[in-house]
Amino acid sequence: MTREPAGDTGADDGDSVVYDLDADCTAEDVSENQPYLAEINGIVDYGVFVDLSESVSGLVHESVLEGTFAVGDELIVELESVRDNGDMAFEPADVGDYTLESVSHDYSLTGTNRLDANVGEQIHVEGEVVQVKQTGGPTIFHVADEYGVVPCAAFEEAGVRAYPQVAVGDVVRVTGTPEHREDSVQIEVDGLSTLEAEDADEARERIDDAIDERAKPHDVEPLIDWPAFEKLRPNLEEVATLLRRTVLEGRPIRVRHHADGDGMCAAVPVQIALERFIAEVHADEQAPRHLIKRLPAKAPFYEMEDATRDLNFALEDREKHGQQLPLLLMLDNGSTAEDVPAYETLTHYDIPIVAVDHHHPDPDAVGDLLDAHVNPYLHDEDYRITTGMCCVELARMIYPDITDELRHVPAVAGLSDRSKADAMEDYLELAREEGYDKQRLQDVSEALDYAAFWLRYNSGDQLIQDLLQIDNGDEQRHRELVSFFADRAREEVDDQLDAAMAHLEHEDLDNGAHLYRIDVENYAHRFTYPAPGKTTGEIHDRKIEETGDPVITVGYGPDFAVLRSDGVRLDIPNMVSELEAEIPGGGVSGGGHLVVGSIKFVKGKREEVIDALVEKMEDAELDDALSSAAPIDD
Ligand code: MN
Repeated sequence: MTREPAGDTGADDGDSVVYDLDADCTAEDVSENQPYLAEINGIVDYGVFVDLSESVSGLVHESVLEGTFAVGDELIVELESVRDNGDMAFEPADVGDYTLESVSHDYSLTGTNRLDANVGEQIHVEGEVVQVKQTGGPTIFHVADEYGVVPCAAFEEAGVRAYPQVAVGDVVRVTGTPEHREDSVQIEVDGLSTLEAEDADEARERIDDAIDERAKPHDVEPLIDWPAFEKLRPNLEEVATLLRRTVLEGRPIRVRHHADGDGMCAAVPVQIALERFIAEVHADEQAPRHLIKRLPAKAPFYEMEDATRDLNFALEDREKHGQQLPLLLMLDNGSTAEDVPAYETLTHYDIPIVAVDHHHPDPDAVGDLLDAHVNPYLHDEDYRITTGMCCVELARMIYPDITDELRHVPAVAGLSDRSKADAMEDYLELAREEGYDKQRLQDVSEALDYAAFWLRYNSGDQLIQDLLQIDNGDEQRHRELVSFFADRAREEVDDQLDAAMAHLEHEDLDNGAHLYRIDVENYAHRFTYPAPGKTTGEIHDRKIEETGDPVITVGYGPDFAVLRSDGVRLDIPNMVSELEAEIPGGGVSGGGHLVVGSIKFVKGKREEVIDALVEKMEDAELDDALSSAAPIDD
């Protein structure tokens, strides 16, 4: 065989291809009988040493060389042999005119769905960095690929940031070894590099396509057949997609919900469904705990205090744990103009906002601030489709296996908000099949309300799950706890009303409705259960039962009034805007449902505001029947 120096134009007919290994290529990328471009890096008596890449080099023996060489010269070689110890020997390749073709390292990628099968073996993973957490030991990069999210531990020095150039949002290639760490699988990183240009685009596209596919909600049949609800389903599917995508992208979720029975029936199923989906997506067992937080909101709107706290926690989590900023999910809350300042606070940062609610919305005010908005009023339906009913279906779209634990929940939600939906019968029947008669459901609703009051600003995760009997808790304890709380709640309501009823002022309005007024500041115990809204509601219920007529009840304090009405066509949001205009310096604000709500004003204008309010109530038309009974929702 004739051997000629590289580049010599030989007898070949056409152009040959010479391969040029990328710097990161390894011996595995070198094939036999293929010409490679090499560079001479050393000359010795018995031959020359050549480099094909950073880690591929070998000897070309003088016996196969012709001519003279210098360090830095190019030489076309092919593999001659590989010794047992891995040393490679090359020989010059016989090529004529040639074109160069670069060879990239063959990273056969292992999906994060196959980590368990590869424990202890070196693998390559490609994905997007979704979180970078510096611990006292290694730096933990959470990397999302088409299949899930895996923590990758890279160690530089204790507490020192490894790969400081790599940031959240980068597409990276990780070479490392999956290892079990406590109950989770983590990759111990040997090498980590950011993909550039086309490589990054290609990987990102592959991951995005997979996430698009996986974000799709499950196609679940609603628990009951309900035409009115059908109108909301496409919107709920949109929210389910958004939430699943948020989990797949490793972004945290913050849930804020109205601190009442319906609010908890909405938030807890969605929280649990998301926790289970997070556990499925993330190899890190702790991920559900870190990535979703649920908190009650005391006001029927998103308060500035809550928004600034949420934002502060989010920014701290980003700083301390390298998390992305969260998505805010507002439940049974968040549809009105009163939410706007808090929402606008968040828009200064990358925090998407989603609301699922059934309070009378101001779509013009919040529409542009929300990434998705589900509300029955947007579909000519009303509060009777409660948020709890919507969110049980939402939870099932996110994680359908939760279904069997939730069949009684829409009935609790409906009773909590006094929904007069025609679907209530079906929901009650569904709950009955699970062993919940109406009394037990009512007790659960009372117990939730009672717990929400005393939990104040805490989520009470386990306690609420035990009361709602989701997540397979101890049934005996659930029953005893529910009875205990429900009984306590009723006793405390009785005590409150014993004092208050004697101070009730009654008036027959011109339109034929009864008006009852109670000064809850002076004639009810403060800072205890039931709060002013609930106290007013309980008085109201007793008066409806007693009179059988249309009733309006106003519970007022120094600078607020709570309104309840039955059989009267009130429009509280509209009344509030009118009062705002008619009483300059009254500081009037508020809202809520059409016939149930609350109003705030300045103390010095109380008489004027309440007088004007009563006048408006007197002008209101009566309902044909007592069928429009209001949701209890303060
Ligand atoms: Mn509600």
